[in-house]
Amino acid sequence: MRILVTGGAGFIGSAVCRYLVGERVSVLNVDKLTYAGNQDSLREIEKNAHYDFLKADICDRAAMDAAFANFQPDGVMHLAAESHVDRSITGAGDFVNTNVVGSFTLLEAARAYWSALPPGKRENFRYLHVSTDEVYGSLGADGLFQETTPYDPSSPYSASKAASDHLATAWGRTYGLPVVISNCSNNYGPYHFPEKLIPLIILNALHGKPLPVYGDGCNIRDWLYVEDHARALLTILTRGRVGEKYNVGGRNERRNIDIVRRICAILDREAPTANKREKLITFVADRPGHDARYAIDATKLETELGWRAQENFDTGIEKTVAWYLDNEWWWRPLREKVYAGERLGLVGAA
Ligand code: NAD
Repeated sequence: MRILVTGGAGFIGSAVCRYLVGERVSVLNVDKLTYAGNQDSLREIEKNAHYDFLKADICDRAAMDAAFANFQPDGVMHLAAESHVDRSITGAGDFVNTNVVGSFTLLEAARAYWSALPPGKRENFRYLHVSTDEVYGSLGADGLFQETTPYDPSSPYSASKAASDHLATAWGRTYGLPVVISNCSNNYGPYHFPEKLIPLIILNALHGKPLPVYGDGCNIRDWLYVEDHARALLTILTRGRVGEKYNVGGRNERRNIDIVRRICAILDREAPTANKREKLITFVADRPGHDARYAIDATKLETELGWRAQENFDTGIEKTVAWYLDNEWWWRPLREKVYAGERLGLVGAA
């Protein structure tokens, strides 16, 4: 099997590439290498015969046409995106460009390629559009996001992802492109860029820096270990029903403040200091449009396709902290970049 992965140098995309190559799937990773793309995350597979890399922008139609023509994929996993909510608030243009225009360009290139496939290959082709639960907006204290939950995005990021989900659905209904969509909850794990909540807190706590927490810290996210997401995506691409959506999540709801405290406790145990790291917690003005709660109902994926999250949050967060303690070579150069402008006030929520 041959899969064209977009955004494979990012956090989730690199986990997907590592997983697919381990499953002996041939991968072409198409990535523009923005600030969030990092080839170091692919070091363990970069020389593998099943892996190839193309530096290209998904907004570049000619480059996408050439990628399809040269690689001849059996399927696409589209992950390339601008993904950081805080950056979308201060600079929405890149989000509209990559997430909407880029997704449109990729759909058009995929459609042209797929339309010209010979019978046999054509029916088996799949286009997996990878999205987020943030398109559903915010939940109250009760309830879970279903696949049928109406879209109600709050941030420029989630609005741009919602727009791209609608484009993908329309390309399926209008042109017959065999599209499947996944909407996943917040991911965490190794190789997560140090501006996102969990790696930011781990590394700030290690360095004795303030631990910025938005508002009162009571916003709830539903956390999934990134390797569980990678497995879910291959399951959905190969066995999901065309035209369907699948929610992906591991039933691990946590308040932001509880995550920060947990990380502090793990680090106090693993790398003791004179003062408890919780003292570094600094509440900062809330993010505008900050959704209160996300929580995924993944029953459809679990019952129809037999996928289940393998990692629960308590073990996953231990593994994640241990990974950051062991892999300074990976995060040190990125952290120096992130802190070039001391962007502390801007970060702190997933
Ligand atoms: P990321 O920011 O870590 O990685 C994005 C990757 O896309 C980077 O390698 C970047 O270089 C690449 N990219 C950006 N613009 C591009 C362009 N124009 N052309 C080609 N490549 C480009 O993001 P992530 O957290 O790994 O998320 C991946 C996907 O999963 C996104 O579509 C995101 O919306 C979705 N998602 C993320 C989460 C999460 O918790 N991180 C949860 C659910 C869904």
